[in-house]
Amino acid sequence: MSALEVDVVVIGGGAAGLFAAATAANRGRTVVLLEKNERPGLKILISGGGRCNVTTTRSGKDLELQYGERRGRFLRHSLHGLPPTSVVAHFERLGVPLREEDLEKLFPVSQKARDVLEALLADCRRSGAQVVTSAAVLSVARDGDRFVVATNDRVWRAHSVIVATGGLSYRKTGATGDGYGFVRSFGHSITSTYPALAPLQVDAAWVRQLQGIVLHGVEIASMDRDGRIKTRRTRPVLFTHKGLSGPAPMDLAGDIEESHGGMVRLDFAPNASIAELESQWLESAKHHGKRLAASLLPAELPDRLRTALCALAGCEGITLANLDRAARQRLLSVVKDLRVPCERSLGFDHAEVTRGGVALDEVDPKSMQSRLQPGLFLCGEVLDIDGPIGGFNFQAAFATGRVAGLHA
Ligand SMILES: Cc1cc2nc3c(=O)[nH]c(=O)nc-3n(C[C@H](O)[C@H](O)[C@H](O)COP(=O)(O)OP(=O)(O)OC[C@H]3O[C@@H](n4cnc5c(N)ncnc54)[C@H](O)[C@@H]3O)c2cc1C
Repeated sequence: MSALEVDVVVIGGGAAGLFAAATAANRGRTVVLLEKNERPGLKILISGGGRCNVTTTRSGKDLELQYGERRGRFLRHSLHGLPPTSVVAHFERLGVPLREEDLEKLFPVSQKARDVLEALLADCRRSGAQVVTSAAVLSVARDGDRFVVATNDRVWRAHSVIVATGGLSYRKTGATGDGYGFVRSFGHSITSTYPALAPLQVDAAWVRQLQGIVLHGVEIASMDRDGRIKTRRTRPVLFTHKGLSGPAPMDLAGDIEESHGGMVRLDFAPNASIAELESQWLESAKHHGKRLAASLLPAELPDRLRTALCALAGCEGITLANLDRAARQRLLSVVKDLRVPCERSLGFDHAEVTRGGVALDEVDPKSMQSRLQPGLFLCGEVLDIDGPIGGFNFQAAFATGRVAGLHA
């Protein structure tokens, strides 16, 4: 089989690979992108419920910190080079204007993820990057001053290789962790990988019995086994037949998985302190002794939930006149500090992103080049990077893809 020569081979046609390929080709490099599926960008198509939450309105330090301190610091250069405002301008130029929705998310005005993918593919075509589909890369090796990249029917020789193979979540989209194997062969280490942004499996029967309830304005936090709070969120929470879902619980999945189980802590009245609530309750008891304890709970909570919380505190059917100090303390603790054991999320099949990946200290954040193998570049979710729900993962994929494309 004779080898085809190019400057850059990009492995993987997701958000990061497509952005990297167009960027490198726009610099005059000859680029081929190899995608194992029949069609590139499957994850883009299913993202954001088929609408693709392209990026966020957050910016600067605040944006950086969404990825956590260490990962945010690694991303600083990339995010500075392609902040969300530039992503918006880029897609506007490509004919896909974006607009803001709840939780600072930016979606295409057309509401179609397909438009985002088509725009990235058109950008590749215009730049001259060749996109080859049904081309699963089987191996990447070094031969003299070139890389040799093999698919089942072709061999490519290239000066640079950009690995943009994604993580492990939603395998059916092509993310099967192949990239980890490719870079391991060059000495890279892969940090432990966990499902993140996935619904939480909660075994407590009372949670499952509340399926269908959606809460706004409650605070939910992840706790490790030692009771240390990892992440807090005040985004919507959905009770399901398997546990908890919706943006806030999903944001906690990576922490729960990483600490191999822990606790979810719910605060149903985040705007009041325990002392404030208690004094309101005592005042209420003075005037409305015949009312039931459930009447003390925040009025915006659904009745079914209020009943369940009273039952958990052992205050079901108790009137305010009969609510003694111990019962009041139990109810306060259920309302402000309800800890629910949670061992796992629903796993990689339901996870929007992978936590963990290629170790960041082995990659130069200013070029995305491997510190171990010159000419080898990495971008997107294959790296040990993950962000919360809200467009942060595409933002990181585009920004790191651009940097890799500028240097490969
Ligand atoms: C259901 C769902 C909804 C999501 N919604 C959003 C959202 O709205 N906003 C957001 O910011 N993020 C969202 N995400 C996360 C986001 O989609 C990913 O973080 C992002 O797509 C990662 O891009 P990537 O290019 O690094 O990897 P991927 O998109 O996973 O692309 C990797 C590509 O590499 C290919 N590949 C793998 N191995 C090989 C090989 N050996 N040879 C050739 N090709 C190979 C794969 O087939 C795939 O096409 C969502 C994820 C899911 C699963």
